[in-house]
Amino acid sequence: MTTTDTPASAVRPPGPDRSWLPLGALEHATFCLRQAVLMLRDGAWADDGATVTGSAAHQRVDDGRSLSLRGGRVHHRVALRSDTLRLHGFADAVERGAEGQLRPVEHKSTGRYLHAARIQALGQAVCLAEMTGQPVTEAVVYVRVDKQRHVFPVTDSSIGEVAQAAARLERALTSPTLPPVTVAPAACRRCSLQLICLPLAQLP
Ligand code: SF4
Repeated sequence: MTTTDTPASAVRPPGPDRSWLPLGALEHATFCLRQAVLMLRDGAWADDGATVTGSAAHQRVDDGRSLSLRGGRVHHRVALRSDTLRLHGFADAVERGAEGQLRPVEHKSTGRYLHAARIQALGQAVCLAEMTGQPVTEAVVYVRVDKQRHVFPVTDSSIGEVAQAAARLERALTSPTLPPVTVAPAACRRCSLQLICLPLAQLP
């Protein structure tokens, strides 16, 4: 499996400007920088059961609808961008609470890679704050398998984590070599790119 459901290369902006990064790539890069580069630079993608399940989960919120929710509204599939961090992509949902507070919601089929999904959702929060001029203090990852909402505070420190993840990925994309294999072998066994990456062949 990969950590997300959309080939990162599929959401690259058109044209030669490669310095813009898709928000989904932040998740890949946090989980495995090598995976992110394989997908984004080399166009690698392979489906497995997990990616198909995840894709189906996303389709439920990719309909562009707006609904009432707990006194506020939820908007599905909202386009986002940050000119500051040069990020672009979509939030599965953006909630506007009863008091007007905004928060992005990223849907995941499992919570296995929550640490990586958190960076993606925080990146969405950065975009949302920049686009609206409103403070965005929370980012949410909703895990479908157990219907849990994981709420993460948006702080200067967490915004710094997003900026560092983007900078790390940009550096890796311009390197002539692939990043090394750094994730645990158990994670590689669940990665749909393992036949392209060949992680065991890279180990000393
Ligand atoms: S097989 Fe392992 S090292 Fe290779 S891309 Fe997948 S997670 Fe990363």
